[in-house]
Amino acid sequence: MTELLDGEALAARFREELVAATERLADAGSQPTLATVLMSDDPASETYVSMKQDDCAEVGIEARDVELDPTAPATELHDTVDELNADPEVNGILVQMPVPDHVDKRRVLRQVNPAKDVDGFHPENVGRLVAGDARFKPCTPHGIQKLLADAGVDTEGKDAVVVGRSDIVGKPMVNLLMQKAAGGNATVTVCHSRTDDLAAKTRGADIVVAAAGVPGMVDGDMLSEGVVVVDVGINRVDADTEKGYELVGDVDFESASEKARAITPVPGGVGPMTRAMLLYNTVKATGQDAGVDIDLP
Ligand code: NDP
Repeated sequence: MTELLDGEALAARFREELVAATERLADAGSQPTLATVLMSDDPASETYVSMKQDDCAEVGIEARDVELDPTAPATELHDTVDELNADPEVNGILVQMPVPDHVDKRRVLRQVNPAKDVDGFHPENVGRLVAGDARFKPCTPHGIQKLLADAGVDTEGKDAVVVGRSDIVGKPMVNLLMQKAAGGNATVTVCHSRTDDLAAKTRGADIVVAAAGVPGMVDGDMLSEGVVVVDVGINRVDADTEKGYELVGDVDFESASEKARAITPVPGGVGPMTRAMLLYNTVKATGQDAGVDIDLP
C-alpha cells in the first residue's frame, strides 16, 4: 500500500502552531510582519504573492504589500529594499522572483538584510545552511524535510537522489539531506541536465526528490520497490480544462506509485509545505528580533 504524503494536511497543522506562536509574540508586543515586493506583471507571480499574503492573514502575520512598476529603474527596487531593511516593524522581506531583466537579481538577494531574509537566499544564510548552522532553511526543502519527518521516513544512512541543482530547491535540499543532523545523514547524489544515465541513479535510491521542472520525467521504470518519492515539480501542461491547462509534477504519479512506499501528490504535496515554511520563517524572524523564545515545531 503506497502512502500518500499529504502536504495539505501537514501544512494546516503547522498553520495552527503558527497561530499560537503569533499570539505569543503579540502578547510580548511584537506583530510579525512580512513585506512582499513584487516588481512584475506576470500573472503567476501576482498569484503567488497574493496567496502568500492570504496565508499570512490566516496565521496572524501582517502582510505589507509593495508593488513596483516592472519598467521602473532598478534603483527603485534597491531603495525599497533599503527602506524595508531599516524598518523595525518589518521582520521578513520577500522579493518575488523573477525580477525584470534590467535588475541584477544577485545584487537584490545580497541586499536583503540576512536577518529578514525569510527565503534563506542571502549568501550569508546559504553559507550558514552549508555550515550546519542555518538561520532560515529555504522554504521548499525545509517543507520536504518536515514532510518526511512527519511520515516517519528516516533519512539516516539512506541513498537519496536529488534531481535538480537550482539555488532555491536542489542545492539546499542536498545540503539538508547531507547535514549531520536530524532529517539528514543521507548519502546524497545530485543529478542535473548533464547527468549520464539518470535512471541508473534513481533506481539505486531509497529516496528520490524530483525538482527538474520536466513534466513526468521520473516514472516507475526509473524507481526501485519501496522508494520514497518527493515530487517538487509544478508544471503547466495543456489540458482540456476551463483554464486550458493543468498542473503536473516531475513524476509520473501512476507508474511511480506502483513502486513507491510513499509519494507526494501534485498538487497537495510539497507546494502547501513551501507556503507554510515561509510563514514559519517569518514567525522565527520575529521571535529573533523580539528576543522571544518561540518554540516552533
Ligand atoms: P530550475 O529550472 O531552476 O532548475 C531545474 C534543475 O533541473 C536544473 O538543475 C536542471 O539542470 C535540472 N534538469 C532540467 N532538466 C533535467 C533533465 N532532463 N534531467 C535531469 N535534470 C534536469 O527549477 P527550480 O529548481 O526552480 O524548480 C524545479 C521545479 O520545481 C519546477 O517545476 C518548479 O515549478 C517547481 N517548484 C515547486 C515548488 C513547490 O513549492 N512545489 C517551489 C519551487 C519550484 P541544469 O542545472 O543542468 O540546468
